[in-house]
Amino acid sequence: MPADPRPATPRPATSLVRRARKIDRVLAETYPDAHCELDFENPFQLLVATVLSAQTTDRRVNAITPALFTAFPDAAALAAADRTAVEEIIRPTGFFRAKTESIMGLSAALVERFDGEVPARLPDLVSLPGVGRKTANVVLGNAFGVPGITVDTHFARLVRRWGWVDEATAKDPVKTEHAVGALFPKRDWTMLCQRVIWHGRRRCHARTPACGACPVAHWCPSYGIGPTDPEIAEALVTTQGPA
Ligand code: SF4
Repeated sequence: MPADPRPATPRPATSLVRRARKIDRVLAETYPDAHCELDFENPFQLLVATVLSAQTTDRRVNAITPALFTAFPDAAALAAADRTAVEEIIRPTGFFRAKTESIMGLSAALVERFDGEVPARLPDLVSLPGVGRKTANVVLGNAFGVPGITVDTHFARLVRRWGWVDEATAKDPVKTEHAVGALFPKRDWTMLCQRVIWHGRRRCHARTPACGACPVAHWCPSYGIGPTDPEIAEALVTTQGPA
């Protein structure tokens, strides 16, 4: 077998590992019910919902997926669907023409290459049209229990703010995935992502993070980039992801 040409992820400093794990423990206490906020009943539904969640909110996707999966319950049904009917259902999620193309295309690929079933391996998942590593890791972690790190916009922002990755690494989602993965045991990866994403949606917002109402402020090198006054910060905290 040829040698893996990628440089190995350097072993992280012990102090960074300790600080990262402390943050994760505090997040686990703060958000004990953190979970994937997309509604789904099987891997196919999660795969489609994740593709639909691009550039919109999970709540908006959850509002339309019951109708979508009632009309087209599996890959075979969606692959053979009337395109206009699919577009009409998913229109509220935005970019509905491109998303219709993606979910019908990946359904056709599932039927042609995987007997209509969603595969449980990263290389197979990313071989489907419109499915990248982020989507694949969401599906692996949440539908199959295979640990994966999902580098979405929240995760990328927070791990940069915490100094878990340097600026150069932060620009590359795959490098970020490997660098953060090296800080935690593999079995913790999926839940770590849920908690970090929840924290990003509720407190550590992109524009104005609620630093004065943040349970991990003590270990955060970026403390102070948002308001530190407790009252002002508390008003920024949301109880659920943005609408
Ligand atoms: S202290 Fe501020 S920047 Fe750091 S994690 Fe908390 S909200 Fe985000």
